[in-house]
Amino acid sequence: MSDTLLRALDLIEPGDLVIYHGTIRSLHGLWLAVPCPCQICKAIDAFGIADVRFALVDPWAERSGPLHARRQSITRSAACA
Ligand SMILES: [Zn+2]
Repeated sequence: MSDTLLRALDLIEPGDLVIYHGTIRSLHGLWLAVPCPCQICKAIDAFGIADVRFALVDPWAERSGPLHARRQSITRSAACA
């Protein structure tokens, strides 16, 4: 698979910088995306439901970000492309 095609798929990998634009407006902005570590998401994962959720981490560790952010709520930042 070509690099261009991978970019087109816009896959988000753990540690990627992303822009959050979900329902919590006050948290819109730049975050580090990591797989959501909570029990709820692990349980969903165990059932094989293909709905990947992310926990968003402040790159500057100054505030706590949203948990269980859906894939549709985040976009990989062009800064790390
Ligand atoms: Zn979660």
